[in-house]
Amino acid sequence: MHILILGAGVIGVTTSYELLKAGYKVSIIDRQHESALETSFGNAGLIAPGHSYAWTTPKLPGNLFKSLFQKKTFRFKFQWDPLMWAWGIQFLWQCRHIKMKENTLRKHRLSSYSQECFHELMNDIKIEYRENKKGLIYIFRTYESFQDGKQKLAILESVMSNLQLLDREEILQLEPVLKEVKEGIYGGIYCSTDESGSCRDFSVELAEICKKRGGKFYFNTTVKGFESKGDKISKVITDKGDFEADAYVLACAAYSPFMAKTVGDYLPIYPVKGYSMTAPIKDINMAPIHSGIDEDNLLAFSLMGDKIRFTSIAEISGYDTNCSPADFTDIMSQAASLFPHACDYSKIEYWCGLRPMTPNGSPIFGKGKMDNLYYNTGHGHLGWTMCAGSAKIISDLISGNKPTLNLEGMTIRTS
Ligand SMILES: Cc1cc2nc3c(=O)[nH]c(=O)nc-3n(C[C@H](O)[C@H](O)[C@H](O)COP(=O)(O)OP(=O)(O)OC[C@H]3O[C@@H](n4cnc5c(N)ncnc54)[C@H](O)[C@@H]3O)c2cc1C
Repeated sequence: MHILILGAGVIGVTTSYELLKAGYKVSIIDRQHESALETSFGNAGLIAPGHSYAWTTPKLPGNLFKSLFQKKTFRFKFQWDPLMWAWGIQFLWQCRHIKMKENTLRKHRLSSYSQECFHELMNDIKIEYRENKKGLIYIFRTYESFQDGKQKLAILESVMSNLQLLDREEILQLEPVLKEVKEGIYGGIYCSTDESGSCRDFSVELAEICKKRGGKFYFNTTVKGFESKGDKISKVITDKGDFEADAYVLACAAYSPFMAKTVGDYLPIYPVKGYSMTAPIKDINMAPIHSGIDEDNLLAFSLMGDKIRFTSIAEISGYDTNCSPADFTDIMSQAASLFPHACDYSKIEYWCGLRPMTPNGSPIFGKGKMDNLYYNTGHGHLGWTMCAGSAKIISDLISGNKPTLNLEGMTIRTS
């Protein structure tokens, strides 16, 4: 049986590995010249079941309203796009307290299942992806944010036993360079099993392994849509001609809804733009040992070999993928306040990407109206964390096996 995967980001590539392992003939199409050149390129690199919180919280609507007037961590650019408004209403509906808990627990289930699958995958093959397995630290700069953090922690504590609440002394002991921080550290949370590493390196190396195992990659090829006969896709239309297979997997992140629409499926996925800057380490003794998040500024920091990557900002501004150094003023000052002597902040690589967000924060798996089209898309801010589990779920669905994970809240509504 021949499976054609659309999209060679971390989700598409991991899916191709899993399907090859299950014995399928696999081809993969992407419009870029290599894998992982879009959202999987410059993300924070955190593999973080210990931080799989829902973004939609009761406080979010207020923060979004404020973002109309001050362009800080949340940014909203007013647009007339009906897709954005349809998605936005569903997103705001998830901001109720009861949904926040439900969505967090669902994301945690998938994230921790996925981390197990990721470890299995890494037992099978050898990939260098600048991994850091020392655990992640979540830092609170103020009493107020620490109290908020404790409240959220209560949700994950019901399903995780290794989240450690740390006072100021304990977090400084764990991460001594934080003593350099001038504007205070109040406390933190340490999750010893969370990890970090380069999603891009992982994807590129895994794509090479897939090629060696017979996977066929068609780069520089843009998908335009599907052609169907009855309830089956008969071909994929691209700018390089038509492609046929027995089954298809759609993994085009924030662009998936446009292709799904050509066969009558609605996918509630909309881009939420994020920014990252990567700086070379100039003094290793002043660099942190752990990757993690500054919770007050929602600034993720991640060790990437001899560099540190800082990411932040959730911006709703459509499909605009441009950025300029002016967008990074806050990230730059927050990074320099956290690790003032670690990096050479004059040599920065800037990047932005579109998180493919669903309203409830979980991806969409399985079939819609077509019997041979499988969705594996909409992984939002945790696609690197969720990649291996998502690939296994799709492989199970295609093989007719019941996935280990209950897919409640993670399938398409076909009505
Ligand atoms: C700032 C930021 C920080 C993040 N931090 C983390 C983190 O710390 N941990 C974590 O787990 N996740 C993180 N994420 C989320 C993670 O990066 C994404 O969820 C993940 O990369 C999505 O993978 P993907 O393969 O679905 O998307 P992509 O990597 O975007 O892959 C989709 C592919 O589809 C291709 N494509 C699209 N349209 C077409 C078309 N018409 N024809 C052909 N090809 C097409 C694209 O070229 C692309 O290669 C972060 C995201 C951002 C933006």
